[in-house]
Amino acid sequence: MTTLDTPMDVLLDGSHGKPKLLVVDDQHINIQVMHQIFGGDYQVFMATCGTQALAICQNNPPDLVLLDIVMPGMDGFEVCTHLKMNDATCNIPVIFVTAHTDPVQETHGLSLGAVDFIAKPVNPAVVRARVKTHLTLKFQSDLLRKLVFLDGLSGVFNRRYFDQQLGVEWARSTRSSSPLSAIMIDVDHFKLFNDHYGHQAGDDCLHQIAVTLKTCLKRPGDLVARYGGEEFACILPETSFNDAMSLANELERKVRALSIPHAHSSVTGVITVSVGVATRNIDSNEDAAALIGLADTQLYDAKQSGRGRVCGAQLGAARAA
Ligand code: GH3
Ligand code: MG
Ligand code: MG
Repeated sequence: MTTLDTPMDVLLDGSHGKPKLLVVDDQHINIQVMHQIFGGDYQVFMATCGTQALAICQNNPPDLVLLDIVMPGMDGFEVCTHLKMNDATCNIPVIFVTAHTDPVQETHGLSLGAVDFIAKPVNPAVVRARVKTHLTLKFQSDLLRKLVFLDGLSGVFNRRYFDQQLGVEWARSTRSSSPLSAIMIDVDHFKLFNDHYGHQAGDDCLHQIAVTLKTCLKRPGDLVARYGGEEFACILPETSFNDAMSLANELERKVRALSIPHAHSSVTGVITVSVGVATRNIDSNEDAAALIGLADTQLYDAKQSGRGRVCGAQLGAARAA
């Protein structure tokens, strides 16, 4: 659970597995002591120098780091500074564990962003209690950070996260010269559905649609968000127009297959969605807003041509392909 690709169900399920601790110390004996204290309740990873510690934090971020200060090469202060400067590692709590416990060192460590300072030789009960406290705080703040980006009703990401990720993915697509696709999805005749079945049934319907959309997206970078009232939107990095169209058709079929009765729909007797697809090819020099604008135009065309269908178009020179 280190990236924001985990919507509500994962967040609330609480099964993080054993928390991951990284012990950084150049003395094997100190690592062994920590292993004895934490080995039962935690996954303990170890590093014997600063460079190794930073590599582990980058590739397999732990939930907390127990960090020695005096080490050959990069010292603990430097390691902490690097961790706090990097977006991918800055939220990992760092506790300094050191034989040097003068107030100047301690103040310096805390000013670099460490959450605590523990004296060697460690008292097992004290170090266990402090680690537990800081992990609890860390998991709570992780959860809050993620809830800010989730839509409460549907359980998928919200518009704020969508807008942020669209910018990130647009920049990535520019850097890597890879295509980027967007899909806009709007529920058909949803006002009539609410009017007939009630607002609560409408909310349940939106939730079911969101779950369905989410299960159709299989690649780790794909995301679905609630874009507005009864409108959802997907970002599909490194996805060609043809692949985005196939996925959009699958989304449309799967929502229809939920068979949620809609007696007042002009399309058919069940809930359907209209879908607009747009793909940015590498040779297009427009911007992210143009991609969403094009997907929206396609959604409008799908509505105009009868609803319960998919329309799509491409930005850039491969438009005619
Ligand atoms: P169209 O097929 O053209 O999209 O018609 P529509 O009725 O779906 O579109 P319209 O924009 O006229 O109405 C959207 C409706 O969606 C009206 C609004 O009450 C409903 N809606 C928006 N957000 C929510 C929500 O959170 N819960 C419920 N139950 N209804 C919502
Ligand atoms: Mg609608
Ligand atoms: Mg709408």
